[in-house]
Amino acid sequence: MSYQKYNRLSLLISIIIVLFVASSLNSILASSISINKIEYNKFNSLCTISIIACIDNIPSIQKTDKDLKKQTDLILEQVNSTKLKEWINTLSSFHTRHTKSDHIENVAYWLKNELETLCENRVFFHNFTQIDENQTFHLKNIICKIHDSTASLQDNNTIIIGAHYDSRAENINNSEARAPGADDNASGVSAILELVRILSHLNLTLNLEFVLFSGEEQGKWGSNKYINYLDGNNRTKNIDLYINFDMIGYRPSNETNKVILEYDIGNKHVQNDNYSKTIALFIKQIASNYTNLQAQLAKLGNSDFIPFEELGSTVIGIHDEGVTKNPNYHKSSDTPNTLNIEYATDITKMILATILELDRFNK
Ligand SMILES: [Zn+2]
Repeated sequence: MSYQKYNRLSLLISIIIVLFVASSLNSILASSISINKIEYNKFNSLCTISIIACIDNIPSIQKTDKDLKKQTDLILEQVNSTKLKEWINTLSSFHTRHTKSDHIENVAYWLKNELETLCENRVFFHNFTQIDENQTFHLKNIICKIHDSTASLQDNNTIIIGAHYDSRAENINNSEARAPGADDNASGVSAILELVRILSHLNLTLNLEFVLFSGEEQGKWGSNKYINYLDGNNRTKNIDLYINFDMIGYRPSNETNKVILEYDIGNKHVQNDNYSKTIALFIKQIASNYTNLQAQLAKLGNSDFIPFEELGSTVIGIHDEGVTKNPNYHKSSDTPNTLNIEYATDITKMILATILELDRFNK
């Protein structure tokens, strides 16, 4: 924790120094600077420290140049709604993914196996033990890492994208009841699988880490244990951003395009709030540039981003408002046929485009 604070302070001082130098340069070169690429270079050192801080200070770069947009559009075309649907179907076909059920281990192995076909040999389990009501549970988060093969082994500029894979029925203590959890949260897990499938073939400079959490419904067990594990390895300082998917497949027929971008305001730390709002506005712009989605900002609710925020990270949550709008929420009726796959496809594209654009700042 204290190291994290120290790191944030030194980051802030670095930003102020870089900005001062950059603004002096800017006044000298003002007449010759056109757009984008020169500014990319000028701020490159700042972007290497923190992608988010870099966006925060160069809002003009949010105007995407036409060639870059074409390149991104081509990659977005790879997002495959059939694949999303198949993954949602398979995950929902487990009788339940309740964290205390006998099925959760099988789900974890199925996911690891699936990720291994997409992410080669960079997949591993993060095993953890949770004690609840005098019972011990041995559980698994599943991680896939995509690194730039040419980069040094440093973990800076890491973006973590997560979703919980457990589900629940109406009675949270009933681990035997049918709980397909199609919207909550097979939809978010499937978006992650699809992002991994596409991004693992690209040469990115960002370090991407995809994490599937267990135990969210029980109280964010998996994400709490995972962030503590990262903190224990002194790695939380390298996290530029945490993006969370929790329910991205349900749309009432009268609001087909609305998606919620949750940003951090208050909570445990206030120094990360500005970055969170900046990235939410950035993603909103991406949604309008690349998809038919109408993104709306809202304050953080309660999901796996909370443990990340508590350790000072910049976080963002993506969801479909299912908690209030999906009549099947936490019920055995949360099945794949109630979802809008095109909508989930658009949300996957929105975050894919976000990652691609953030990666460009780093080049
Ligand atoms: Zn959920």
